[in-house]
Amino acid sequence: MDYSGGCQCGAIRYLARAPRDRASVCYCRMCQKASGQPFMAFVRFRADRVSWSRPPAIFASSTIVERGFCAVCGTPLSYRQIAGEYVSLTLHSLDDPAALAPEMAFSPETQAPWCLTLGHLPAGPDVADLPDFVSNQQPDG
Ligand SMILES: [Zn+2]
Ligand SMILES: [Zn+2]
Repeated sequence: MDYSGGCQCGAIRYLARAPRDRASVCYCRMCQKASGQPFMAFVRFRADRVSWSRPPAIFASSTIVERGFCAVCGTPLSYRQIAGEYVSLTLHSLDDPAALAPEMAFSPETQAPWCLTLGHLPAGPDVADLPDFVSNQQPDG
């Protein structure tokens, strides 16, 4: 199975060819800052199996890691050890993120404790149901 995806504005699309490697979440402080979120989720591929409609912008978050993102809309797209064999794609930039689930967790010691209780929160309204809602996102697919 191949996996397609891209950023929310549609400026960058990718195609990742099977076989995939592991799917994971990472709670490390660098992933938290890179996403502005409590964790990042990824699925990893050999880098030569991923093709891009255009290369993502890159920020070297350390001396050993580059993070790719769309410079137009800001969507985080990738994580790669510099010149490494693998590239990890952000799980929910996939067109069909429900096709995968994380299989391991990195840096659980920096997980926000409330992550464990998310399934018990009361449900709010779906933003797509709000009056006058019109998405500017590129549709999936
Ligand atoms: Zn974009
Ligand atoms: Zn991390």
